[in-house]
Amino acid sequence: MKIGTVLAPESLGPTITAGEILVEIMATSVGVGFQEPISLIGPFPSGAPAIFIDQVAKLGSAAGIISAVGDDDFGRLNIARLERDGADVSAIEISADFPTGTAFVRYRPDGARDFVFNIAKSAAGAVSATKAASDLMARAGHVHVMGSAFTIPGIASVLMEAVTVVKSRGGTVSFDPNLRKELVSGEGDARRLLDDMLAVTDLLLPSGDELTVAAAIDGEENAIAKLLSMGVSEIVLKRGPQGSSFFSRNHRVDCPGFVVDEVDPTGAGDCFGATFVTCRRQGREPIDALRYANAAGARTVTKQGPMEGASSFPEPRPIHCNQSIRGLI
Ligand code: ATP
Ligand code: MG
Repeated sequence: MKIGTVLAPESLGPTITAGEILVEIMATSVGVGFQEPISLIGPFPSGAPAIFIDQVAKLGSAAGIISAVGDDDFGRLNIARLERDGADVSAIEISADFPTGTAFVRYRPDGARDFVFNIAKSAAGAVSATKAASDLMARAGHVHVMGSAFTIPGIASVLMEAVTVVKSRGGTVSFDPNLRKELVSGEGDARRLLDDMLAVTDLLLPSGDELTVAAAIDGEENAIAKLLSMGVSEIVLKRGPQGSSFFSRNHRVDCPGFVVDEVDPTGAGDCFGATFVTCRRQGREPIDALRYANAAGARTVTKQGPMEGASSFPEPRPIHCNQSIRGLI
């Protein structure tokens, strides 16, 4: 049976987002922090919203990002990558006052990470609704929102404006609620922003406990039922190496993950989300969209560097989902 898509078709206009663009510079050795001179590798283009939009563009779909970089090589590196992969960079402002954002990362032996960030006081912290941003919103067909972007005040307001503009022309909204749990528990501003976003979300893309945190209820089934009854049309739960599941009012589809050797997990959720959104906007069925998205997520973790594993359609060729690869559920 065919399961129609709730997402606006590609013909309505590009998929857009707003958010931080960064470079990532990573330690070449496993260890704790940066308190001694160590070897580093980078700069790599990064920033979750930039990874998402790069992945949409690599799939050949129209994509654009509202952001800001400094007038420096870190900014030029990012713009060149996004342009090379086909993204619309017209709404990336070049700040005369702030440098491009940076993230230094080192993995600990247990897989945890230590970071040194400069985002809030970088160009990414100064994103605003420029004329170019308004022009991009006015022709967009879909907005993707990342919960993490709400921690940067300028970006939060640009995103809310983009949601209003795009919805008013018949477009749709996807939401990756990757917010820290502590931030949204209780009744604070972050919880209110999360609820406001859920009220306009067509497709929700949580992973792990983001699902139950978003729904404010325990248990996967309860959380899915509550969010669907609140008006979210489609939910895709990301399950790391186990794959992913799709839920709508009348359907559930599970798709096991691909078995790969993980080199660097950064960017998996963003490439997965971008691929799922793109496939659904192209009218593909949930099972096909899940397979492509699982393949894109799996391929991302095999490459070092956040954006290095973004895939074109021939690259994440979906092999048939084989339930025996990993026992899902
Ligand atoms: P992120 O850490 O980028 O925020 P996430 O928590 O949002 O990611 P994950 O579930 O970790 O989302 O990854 C997204 C998708 O990528 C998974 O649903 C899966 O399809 C794929 N994936 C991630 N890690 C692996 C892995 N080690 N092996 C195979 N597939 C993977
Ligand atoms: Mg995530």
